[in-house]
Amino acid sequence: MSIRPIYLDCHATTPVDERVLAAMLPYFTEKFGNPSSISHVYGWEAEAAVKQTREILAAAINATPEEIVFTSGATEANNLAIKGVAEAYFQKGQHIITVATEHKAVLDPCAYLKTLGFEITVLPVQKDGLIDLTELEKALRPETILVSVMAANNEIGVLQPLTEIGEICRDRNIIFHTDAAQAIGKIPLDVQAQKIDLMSLTAHKAYGPKGIGALYVRRRNPRVQVAPQQHGGGHERGMRSGTLYTPQIVGFGKAVEIALAEQATENQRLTELRQKLWQQLSPIEGVHLNGHPTQRLAGNLSISVEGVDGAALGLGLQPVMAISSGSACTSANTAPSHVLTALGHSQQLAYASVRFGIGRFNTPEEIDTVAKHAIATIQSLRKQTTLV
Ligand SMILES: *Cc1c(COP(=O)(O)O)cnc(C)c1O
Repeated sequence: MSIRPIYLDCHATTPVDERVLAAMLPYFTEKFGNPSSISHVYGWEAEAAVKQTREILAAAINATPEEIVFTSGATEANNLAIKGVAEAYFQKGQHIITVATEHKAVLDPCAYLKTLGFEITVLPVQKDGLIDLTELEKALRPETILVSVMAANNEIGVLQPLTEIGEICRDRNIIFHTDAAQAIGKIPLDVQAQKIDLMSLTAHKAYGPKGIGALYVRRRNPRVQVAPQQHGGGHERGMRSGTLYTPQIVGFGKAVEIALAEQATENQRLTELRQKLWQQLSPIEGVHLNGHPTQRLAGNLSISVEGVDGAALGLGLQPVMAISSGSACTSANTAPSHVLTALGHSQQLAYASVRFGIGRFNTPEEIDTVAKHAIATIQSLRKQTTLV
């Protein structure tokens, strides 16, 4: 029997919770209607299911159901937010601010806009991964139309100060977008209290299905415009055409509903697991924690290890644990993680990094196995290095 490695890559994706799958199944075969079909029961029941998820998502972030635009995931939501605002507001200004540690799904649309003539400021982060709010204020210009700062980082788990950023942007009438792909269901989000105008969401980081996400688009105080990036039948109030994927939308709603109901107890449990792992790894000399020690996702532990080769470390860990050394979304290329180099790490140290993404189905026993193997791997690699 081949033993599969322990799954600790929950920032890359998560399994679909059985309860989510059960909610989705009837919508493939029985209740398969098109939610846009208004003349029969097949359409009505699909539309009712879509409406229910809209309500769950809206309640989760203190928005209204009409402000939820379904997309294929957070990548598409980020593209719609950033390119959509650029297109709708370019006459007002052509300057956009984002951050060096953002996901590529934010950085790449910004880089694309630069080729069209927009000016992009990419803010640095401090050693702990947080942005400096005075740096943000200094970067603002009269022609700034958008600030995009993520809620929770996918590599180092750092939670940016959304409320303070929202305050700064609202004072100056600048649209504030946040990529909350890693945050939905895991930390409290409130678009009113935090003065957020656009928020990208996805289901598959929170035990929902892949291929479904949403963009929250503020409708009042102020009303925010985003130019559609996909044209067609006029779905989602014209902002995103295409037949709605009912089973995925049902799964998205169920996943968020479960995550919210269990958020407090699950965060407590994940924090304990993370501390259990860190308590075992931190005594090893030259092992560094990446990102702010407390202002981070409960299930995230990112470390960098001095004196070992990054590739060898990854290979050594792989038989026992499914982890990521850098973002899974960018691991196809061999450059060191842009997030870790933004923290000031050398290339070597950025390579010798491990992201543990602890999740709903991990146990304390698994954490002990992982810690033991990680320590043995680091020590054995260092011994080999000194022998040469
Ligand atoms: C996973 C992730 C994305 C991409 O989301 P998809 O739904 O897979 O397109 C974007 N931003 C962050 C921060 C992520 O973690």
